[in-house]
Amino acid sequence: MLSGRTWAPSFSGPLALAPVCLPSASEGRAPDVGDAAYRSHCPQSPLNAPACALGRVSEALRGHHGSSVCSGPRGSQGVAGSHLTDTYVTANHGKLKQDIKALRASSLAAFRACWEHLQDGLSAVEAAVQGAQLCHQALLAWQSKVGQLERSLQEADARYQLEKQKRRVLHNRLVELKGNIRVHCRIRPLLPFDKEFGDPTSQDSSVPAGVVHAIDDETVLVKCAQPAHPLINKTYNFERVYGPEESQQVVFGDVCPLLTSLIDGYNVCIMAYGQTGCGKSYTMLGPHSKEERIPPWGPHSDLGIMPRAAAELFRLIAENPSRRLQVDLSIVEVYNNNIFDLLAKARGMAASGCRREALTTKDARREVPLLTREPVHSAEDFVALAAGSLRLRAELATLVHARSSRSHLIITATLTRGPAAGGSPADQQAERPPLEGRPASGSRGGASCGRAPAGSPGAQQPKEQVHAKLQLVDLAGSECVSGVTGSALRETSFINRSLAALADVLGALSERRGHIPYRNSQLTHFLQDVLGGDAKLLVMLCVSPCRKHVAETLRCLGFGARARQVQRGQASGGSPAPRKPR
Ligand code: ADP
Ligand code: MG
Repeated sequence: MLSGRTWAPSFSGPLALAPVCLPSASEGRAPDVGDAAYRSHCPQSPLNAPACALGRVSEALRGHHGSSVCSGPRGSQGVAGSHLTDTYVTANHGKLKQDIKALRASSLAAFRACWEHLQDGLSAVEAAVQGAQLCHQALLAWQSKVGQLERSLQEADARYQLEKQKRRVLHNRLVELKGNIRVHCRIRPLLPFDKEFGDPTSQDSSVPAGVVHAIDDETVLVKCAQPAHPLINKTYNFERVYGPEESQQVVFGDVCPLLTSLIDGYNVCIMAYGQTGCGKSYTMLGPHSKEERIPPWGPHSDLGIMPRAAAELFRLIAENPSRRLQVDLSIVEVYNNNIFDLLAKARGMAASGCRREALTTKDARREVPLLTREPVHSAEDFVALAAGSLRLRAELATLVHARSSRSHLIITATLTRGPAAGGSPADQQAERPPLEGRPASGSRGGASCGRAPAGSPGAQQPKEQVHAKLQLVDLAGSECVSGVTGSALRETSFINRSLAALADVLGALSERRGHIPYRNSQLTHFLQDVLGGDAKLLVMLCVSPCRKHVAETLRCLGFGARARQVQRGQASGGSPAPRKPR
């Protein structure tokens, strides 16, 4: 029986739908599943079709109910009305049946649609699972590939280390074949000031002013015929001879391989030797003005060996940062056989406070206590620090040179290994390999030395391991200046004595004497590490081409010829034995 609150059809099985509560007429027109409003609410839904059918059933019922309500007030017509109602129900029964059938069919269709949707979803999930499995397999394949690559990288690294070791040995052999002491000779060009200072022959255009010639890459000829003098016609052979036209770049090109030896752990020294005005400072530092002892840093062609070596050193360090090499600079001048710490002097310390002494310790190490060492992190830092100190170098105006250096300048770059990331200096000490075949004498690469940090030249730090040292030496003029007196004479005699001591050391080394007289002068004592053993020494003889300087030129070339005879490495006694490269 249908009453105010109508029934909701209930289906079981695939046609089961949520019960629908149909409102009575008294409840007004709440949205009905069969309504247009409802249909517009869910027009695309696969449930729309059965909803429409249900709506139609609901409408039919509502129509029947409505008519029964309408008949109510008529009272007298009760029986007739009841009959009418039965007729109406009978009449609509078929229609209702049809609607229910339609509802069933459309619900079935909706179910099928849902089923198909589910099937599609399932297929999509299956495809996704398969895709994930493929991805997982690919990941495993990549992981194994990465493992293979890691193994081959390790193998390549091991091969690289081996090749590097071989390269070092070969490079060192090459350097040794060229000679651990190499002597190069540079003839400077004739310059305007060569005409000055009363050289009679330089005014006479029939007599060539230049008497020193580079015959080829390795031969110098000194040819000079002077009235009332025996003819001079001598040739000298050196590892390399540079004519007046050869550039700073060419000169450095031959020096450069020594820096590879330095990085490999060998001590290296490059020294310029010659009389005043022959181009030592030009070769070592570059052209300098009155104010600037070193040309300003920059990419110009006239830079000397020092700034170029600094640039190459930092380039090589940057090439292999795993070595963790740090560079400290110390700059000294040896003046009147005293070592002066120019970095301390640059900080305003009185000259007496800057005096240092080279000592040999009980275990035959060379030390310079209290020597200031300043860390530098770039070639620019290196050059700026050197330029600042060089202004303080002792000078004197001589006949040939208004600013003649009266001291030997020694710039020392000490390479040490810095701490590993996260490691303390103590760890570093423990981490370092034992010093292999290192010489006991002198603070050669790998030997220990006391270090005074920047700004506190007095503080002694714990002993540290030095990787290697580079020493750049601009020697004082080698000439015997006649007619000088007083302090100038004293300076000259000290210069000549120290240069004679240098020649003695090289002579003792060449004769493989048991005793090498390093301690005869502060210069040779300070340079002990780079004069003996397997350190690489390059002597750059600088000569003037002028006739008036010929006597000094011959002396200088003679010094170079003697130095060339030194065969180091096998020498006994004071000369340390060669060691393996690191
Ligand atoms: P030293 O240091 O031996 O006393 P310098 O290096 O000061 O001599 O050189 C003296 C002068 O000669 C400087 O003015 C320098 O610029 C110049 N000079 C030296 N060698 C050369 C060269 N190869 N080319 C051009 N100028 C040079
Ligand atoms: Mg000079």
